[in-house]
Amino acid sequence: MVFHRYSFKRPAGWTKKKLSRLVALSPQDPTYIQLEKHFQDGWTHPKKPKPQVHAIFEIVLTEESLVAFLRYRALVEISRVPKHANEQLLFHGTSRSCSLGDEKTRTQLCKMAGCLLCSVIRNSFDVSKCGEYHSIVAFKSLLTCLTGKRHKFRRFGTGIYTTACSSKADDYFIGVPDSPFRAVLVNRVVVGNPLIRQYNAEEITELPFGYHSVVGVPGADLNYGETVVYNNDAIRPAYLIVYAADVPPEVHVADLRSILSTLFKTPVAAS
Ligand SMILES: [Zn+2]
Repeated sequence: MVFHRYSFKRPAGWTKKKLSRLVALSPQDPTYIQLEKHFQDGWTHPKKPKPQVHAIFEIVLTEESLVAFLRYRALVEISRVPKHANEQLLFHGTSRSCSLGDEKTRTQLCKMAGCLLCSVIRNSFDVSKCGEYHSIVAFKSLLTCLTGKRHKFRRFGTGIYTTACSSKADDYFIGVPDSPFRAVLVNRVVVGNPLIRQYNAEEITELPFGYHSVVGVPGADLNYGETVVYNNDAIRPAYLIVYAADVPPEVHVADLRSILSTLFKTPVAAS
């Protein structure tokens, strides 16, 4: 699924001096509606309830960044028959140390070293930082905090990892504890000719001639698909989707009442 609205459309009044790279989309905007559907359709983990989308932002790229991406895309395009770059909109989850996007007016990127989300929005992806971008899943993030060691497993080697499965990208999101929201990036990815893999191949550092990406398909080593590119200019962040972090709190309250009632064999009054 590819959207043809380019992310370099700058809103009126936007200047390079302003640090904000995010423009909130209206829920009535056709792009918002398409992206929300894309996000919900991609939420395929059966045990993870579908979250409610809170806000969607368009990411404004610098001209330099956009030109480098378009140049790479054009090269892939002319190398394929038929001439098509096979660009796809894919999800990526990472860590957020600030509350970017929690409110529609919170669009200023932070400068905290651990905030990879702001770093990607500011400078796009960097293969050399692959271990940081794709290093941590929920439980292992706790180990990372405790031990200071990052998880270095890279299923398909040193590349930039994305997925069509929003609920899988969500696994890689790490936020601040006081925020009720989570966030994933939606990226324009030049997939070109994909090398299809069912099994892990951590040794990959570059692709065989004629290929532009690795697509891992479920069935053997993977439960959910992923797409990896190895060139910084093969990908640009395009949108940020912010969504509710968990089931509504009243469910927890109801569960708590039920537990207390069972423990003490007496009904607990509703507050
Ligand atoms: Zn930040």
